Amino acid sequence: MKQTLTHPVVIGGGPVGLVLALSLQQAGVPVTVLEAQPPGAMYGDGRALALSSGTRQVLEQLGVWNTLQSKVTAIDTIHVSQQKGFGRALLKAGEHQLPALGYVVSYGALMQALDARIAESSSGLEIQYQVPVQNLHVDANAAEITFQTAGATDRQSTDLIATPLAIIADGGRSLESIPGLVRETKHYGHDALVGLVQTELPHRNIAYERFTPFGPMALLPNGEHFSLVWTGEQTYIDQIAALDDAAFLQALHQAFGDRVGKFLHIGKRGRFPLKLSKLEQTFPAHCVVIGNAAQTMHPVAGQGFNVGIRDAMALARNIAASSAAEWGTVHRLAQYHQSRARDTGRGLIFTDFLVNVFSNDLIGVGLLRGAGLGALSMLPFARRLLVNKMSYGS
Ligand SMILES: Cc1cc2nc3c(=O)[nH]c(=O)nc-3n(C[C@H](O)[C@H](O)[C@H](O)COP(=O)(O)OP(=O)(O)OC[C@H]3O[C@@H](n4cnc5c(N)ncnc54)[C@H](O)[C@@H]3O)c2cc1C
Repeated sequence: MKQTLTHPVVIGGGPVGLVLALSLQQAGVPVTVLEAQPPGAMYGDGRALALSSGTRQVLEQLGVWNTLQSKVTAIDTIHVSQQKGFGRALLKAGEHQLPALGYVVSYGALMQALDARIAESSSGLEIQYQVPVQNLHVDANAAEITFQTAGATDRQSTDLIATPLAIIADGGRSLESIPGLVRETKHYGHDALVGLVQTELPHRNIAYERFTPFGPMALLPNGEHFSLVWTGEQTYIDQIAALDDAAFLQALHQAFGDRVGKFLHIGKRGRFPLKLSKLEQTFPAHCVVIGNAAQTMHPVAGQGFNVGIRDAMALARNIAASSAAEWGTVHRLAQYHQSRARDTGRGLIFTDFLVNVFSNDLIGVGLLRGAGLGALSMLPFARRLLVNKMSYGS
């Protein structure tokens, strides 16, 4: 069945797609979301997302924060250090008159809060579940989206929607081969190992970022525990992933040091490959890409997700400020891309720089790292710049 819509369609109902949909709804723009999975499928996903102060403000504006508040853990202090080297820096929320430097929340809890907000008022916002999009065809007049019919088990049963603007927010998992969209990818050859760890000492709302010669690692306060993000070359991560829990906790203690006492327990360990990926600056009409689908960053500075939320907000403003006849025009989309180029570009450069400089054992680089951390610790304006960037982007 073919349906012709006169409003935007979002492909992917992950956090970025839903934040965009809620923002459009708030601005009075009708929107349809096509999501591959059934409702609630991700509620059990414990991956820890670091939310910036800017993202908190967005969630407040959208009426999501109230529900979410009891599930987030505030980061009051960020402690940055390097293994086998001097230099250490502390960033404190109080120094920057902020209630917190950021917040940690599980992906599942965020999805639940977004869904709860949508359930309160779904007027103008339609979500179709279990409709994996298979193809997107863009011509001069519209985007045509082919997706598997809801509930159908065979890929051959498809439906079609034509829309003036298809917004791809699918996390970059599909739709790679749309003409006009060219992706540049740098594989770090590194993986992130993630999991919830229990430590001897309480977290006191401190997030630890530690740079080791193998790669950066982070401990983020999450509820009563810490969420661990341990990155390194795939062969190195293979080795630590193969350890039994007791040996794993010991290796973690060795890499991390004594700041949080002994490591007592590790929950289910997850793993994902790290890459830097971005779209080249092409602006096909009737189609735009946001969130992780548009850019994927190393999680070293907790930037990726927040950049995606800023994409969603900038696009919502762009659409709301345009007449319906302008949705999907090259001119309007170019304006959107221009408004995002600086923030996205700097986020990619910043995280790539951190990975290169802080995961490197060359003589001289260790000294540079120590000097960088020393400077950060000595210079209030450098800390202010960094905190501003982490909170609100470029
Ligand atoms: C395995 C993994 C672990 C991660 N762990 C961390 C972490 O510990 N900390 C951290 O900060 N970041 C982590 N990230 C990154 C973080 O998850 C992303 O920054 C964030 O999820 C981006 O949100 P998004 O909405 O753009 O994409 P996603 O969260 O990926 O959402 C995309 C949505 O699109 C849907 N979809 C996909 N294909 C289709 C299709 N064809 N048709 C319709 N719908 C579709 C999906 O079902 C999903 O709901 C991780 C990423 C991955 C892949």
